[in-house]
Amino acid sequence: MIGGGPAGYTAAIRAGQLGFKTAIVEKRGTLGGTCLNVGCIPSKALLHATELFDEAQHGFAKFGIKADGVSVDLPAMMAHKAKVVTELTKGIEFLMKKNKVTYLAGAGRFKSADTIEVTLNDGGTKEIKAARTLIATGSDVSSLPGIEIDEKTVVSSTGALALDKVPGKLIVIGGGVIGLELGSVWKRLGAEVTVVEFLDRITPAMDGEVSKNFQRILGKQGFEFMLSHKVTAVKPGKKGAKVTVEPRDGGEAKTLEADIVLVAVGRRPYTDNLGLDAAGVETTDRGFIPVDAHYATNVGHIYAVGDVIGGLMLAHKAEEEGVAAVEIMAGQHGHVNYESIPGVIYTMPEVANVGATEESLKAAGIAYKTGKFPFTANSRAKANSQTEGFVKVIADAATDRILGAHIIGADAGNMIAEIVTAMEFGGAAEDLARTSHAHPTEMEAVREAALGVNGGTRQM
Ligand SMILES: Cc1cc2nc3c(=O)[nH]c(=O)nc-3n(C[C@H](O)[C@H](O)[C@H](O)COP(=O)(O)OP(=O)(O)OC[C@H]3O[C@@H](n4cnc5c(N)ncnc54)[C@H](O)[C@@H]3O)c2cc1C
Repeated sequence: MIGGGPAGYTAAIRAGQLGFKTAIVEKRGTLGGTCLNVGCIPSKALLHATELFDEAQHGFAKFGIKADGVSVDLPAMMAHKAKVVTELTKGIEFLMKKNKVTYLAGAGRFKSADTIEVTLNDGGTKEIKAARTLIATGSDVSSLPGIEIDEKTVVSSTGALALDKVPGKLIVIGGGVIGLELGSVWKRLGAEVTVVEFLDRITPAMDGEVSKNFQRILGKQGFEFMLSHKVTAVKPGKKGAKVTVEPRDGGEAKTLEADIVLVAVGRRPYTDNLGLDAAGVETTDRGFIPVDAHYATNVGHIYAVGDVIGGLMLAHKAEEEGVAAVEIMAGQHGHVNYESIPGVIYTMPEVANVGATEESLKAAGIAYKTGKFPFTANSRAKANSQTEGFVKVIADAATDRILGAHIIGADAGNMIAEIVTAMEFGGAAEDLARTSHAHPTEMEAVREAALGVNGGTRQM
């Protein structure tokens, strides 16, 4: 395995379990990749911490809890984040030992199709001959032409996870998942946040109704949005930066001032210095490694999985692919069902989705029906005072088979799992609707939405 992120380390564990003699090469110095080191985990640690702070400031009073004088100790918050990251990345090292996987801390580079040279972080090199190689080198932050990330004033997600003080004004370039999550962190800590998005809506791949509601909710929280706008220049100065913004469809440019600019315009496949040419492995125009249905590259015994092959850039998608690729190498039937990979935005409320959107079904000419249930009508959400959002279930008009689901709600990220499972089993909306759900739980809203698909909602 080259790359020790979710794709590489999960594949390595599976390879160990299946009896392959396995080595994992990771140059970062710690295992866990983007996700554990500078992605999923540190962002969720900060999201949770700042959510607690926000609740203490604005949410406790209505429950009759007085929490006057609550304040933030940013270094302590960052220390908590660092501790979680260290413990989890060490945990992956333990899992490598447990599964008899050799961990080589260093940068891997193909010398030929079956030889990899590892430049060890501690000095020296080591050559490995491999019957099969799995490329799992992931992705890296990308920027816009002419905008240089210095990780001080103009930061990527990595810099935004480690600011040493709360910016007065934060401009986020890009209204996608990462920009909105990290924007939420700093917003809750007191920053004024403006999101500049080129398209006419945030989170554009999401179900339209959900993204519209999501934007409205974030707006109520104080986010400012400049949609259909493009950033044409960012000039860092002694203090902060000047950001030039233009309406996408023509019009006058404006200059905005910011203490920190977060560039969150996406990620690029990472194959720098990997020696793909020496191995004969091809890439697409955009730098992704194309693979066949068995995750093999154009060089049959070299496989690739995770962010580096494109598709959804999600840790759990990378993990599924890693496992499937190794099982296929072992002659088994590894498989990833791309129709049922959930996506979650860990803001408050959370936003979760799986499968088709109404827009994608319309475009494909597939007849569907929907059921929707708002959390304002869910008793547990009411008791918890978390009534924002709704559950929407989309099913095939003829067969009732669940085609997709979309949730905005406090616990949407956990709730979507039930629908993912139903979809994995080819379930119908009626299956969800006839499943007993504990009362009172927010999960009852899933059942009610499923009932609604066939006009049978009971609680409203
Ligand atoms: C801020 C942020 C938040 C995110 N939050 C979530 C989330 O909540 N949920 C979710 O599902 N996804 C999230 N993601 C996305 C997730 O992190 C990625 O989809 C996932 O890490 C991809 O896994 P991977 O193994 O393909 O690649 P990576 O995790 O990028 O791992 C690749 C590893 O390969 C190493 N490497 C590269 N080249 C070499 C080489 N030549 N030799 C040795 N090692 C090499 C790199 O150092 C890296 O550690 C987030 C991403 C970011 C940036």
